[in-house]
Amino acid sequence: MHTDLVAALDIGGTKIAGALVDGDGSLLVRAQRPTPAREGAEAVMGAVDEVLGELMASPLWGRAGSVGIGSAGPVDAAAGTVSPVNVPGWRDFPLVERVHKTAGGLSVALVGDGVAMTAAEHWLGAARGYDNALCLVVSTGVGGGLVLGGTLRPGPSGNAGHIGHISVDLDGDPCPCGARGCVEGIASGPNIARRALENGWRPGPDGDATAAAVAVAARAGDPVAIASYERAAQALAAGIAATATLADLDIAVVGGGVAGAGDVLFVPLRRILREYATLSYLRRLTVAPAVMGNDAGLVGAAAAAIALR
Ligand SMILES: [Zn+2]
Repeated sequence: MHTDLVAALDIGGTKIAGALVDGDGSLLVRAQRPTPAREGAEAVMGAVDEVLGELMASPLWGRAGSVGIGSAGPVDAAAGTVSPVNVPGWRDFPLVERVHKTAGGLSVALVGDGVAMTAAEHWLGAARGYDNALCLVVSTGVGGGLVLGGTLRPGPSGNAGHIGHISVDLDGDPCPCGARGCVEGIASGPNIARRALENGWRPGPDGDATAAAVAVAARAGDPVAIASYERAAQALAAGIAATATLADLDIAVVGGGVAGAGDVLFVPLRRILREYATLSYLRRLTVAPAVMGNDAGLVGAAAAAIALR
């Protein structure tokens, strides 16, 4: 039978999503389970098997030629294992082998979720038509992925482009990763909110103290809220400039919940990027918001499976 579909899995700390994806990136069949993140390894795998089982029950399953997985990191694509920070039961868990078995022997491609998002944006989103792109997911953490010479470059481990743990503040705060002054420690949503609170910003009557609430305050002119986003933009700008200077990039695409702040983030980001990306060959470097939304993980897992075939 003609195998024109990819079975895609998007594995995160709160949900495990699956879909059968066609050659245009359309999601034809979907399945989803909450991630039993506090339970043991087999309980989490059980949820993956349920998602796959639902896809396999579809009459379209026979058209699936491979499986693509985008997983919360770190992943080890060479070993086929995952160790998602927010799924403690999975450490060096042999996900590729297990999915291969459940899915009836189909080949399985594994990449980190930042790489999957990059594959989606390059295939159908904001990085489409650009041969050299860095895509960032700025959310609870900060991740990313790279397209170079028109090709997705996940690296041997599947984590290349993980901009969140580039140091942009040499003597900065210790990061849970063990380094100091990482982009994530300055630019992630929780850190935008923390910095605003430390500097005197207070949530409104609804008590919402998230980065999204800080963005609302910034839009209304609150100087502390504006300053917290400016600092996040500065860290992102330094990380993007470093990457672009090394890899000669055309575009940086920024997605994730923090990118939902819109101009509150993008106006200072574009301005400050010019202070760090100064060499002549970086004049063409542009910054664009991601456009693939909630389905980026699934579309990207499918795109990665196709790209790495
Ligand atoms: Zn770090």
